[in-house]
Amino acid sequence: MLSLSGVTTAYGSIVALRDVSLEVMPGEIVTLIGANGAGKSTLMMTICGSPAPLSGRILHAGEDITGMPTHLIMRRGIAHAPEGRRIFPRMTVLENLRMGAEVLGTATFEEDLERVCTLFPRLRERLGQRGGTLSGGEQQMLAIGRALMSRPRLLLLDEPSLGLAPMLVRQIFAAIRELNRTTGLTVLLVEQNAWHALRLAHRGYVLVNGRITMSGTGAELLARPDVRAAYLEGG
Ligand code: ATP
Repeated sequence: MLSLSGVTTAYGSIVALRDVSLEVMPGEIVTLIGANGAGKSTLMMTICGSPAPLSGRILHAGEDITGMPTHLIMRRGIAHAPEGRRIFPRMTVLENLRMGAEVLGTATFEEDLERVCTLFPRLRERLGQRGGTLSGGEQQMLAIGRALMSRPRLLLLDEPSLGLAPMLVRQIFAAIRELNRTTGLTVLLVEQNAWHALRLAHRGYVLVNGRITMSGTGAELLARPDVRAAYLEGG
């Protein structure tokens, strides 16, 4: 579904990703864990075409998408729910969701809206409310819902648990698991919350200073003392 080989990305002289190779198979949930500044968001953005990598190759469904403009990458069935709930704060929830559906046109809008509102009932109650006035958790639901409106085959989820209360984190992760189970949606998830992410994921990678240092099944990584010490609170 997605494969990165030898991807290096830099911001001027700051190298944020070094020779990163990873693979996501169809129907998999793969998580990438790493500390602040490890390069997780840069990896997601590089897959989406901005910034473009300095070297390496990104393949999606067998097609080379390296350096392709973002809107063309999105049209190929990749959707990005970015970190920090970058929704449109002045637009209503409904307008935000419409933006997510733009690549598809209007034909399936009502059906997709129903699907997203069933997944996140909280959004249905707030369709007319401005995005910027939603709570943190609601904004996160909106960011994910907006990404889902484009009917992606691959969902890139950037730190969905950031700043959320434990109950909301559980809700969001349950929603991701349900989507993957029922629709076969492929997910690449970036998280600092290693415990939830590794339990959810089929496989995981650890990113340290822009390099992949470990990979394995979620259970394998969770069982490793070095992973526990570095990424699980209390060790
Ligand atoms: P966090 O969990 O804190 O969001 P992250 O793992 O997502 O971190 P990135 O945001 O990808 O990390 O950042 C990786 C490195 O690249 C950091 O050292 C960061 O300072 C640097 N960086 C990110 N964006 C830019 C930019 N636009 N210009 C210069 N440097 C940047």
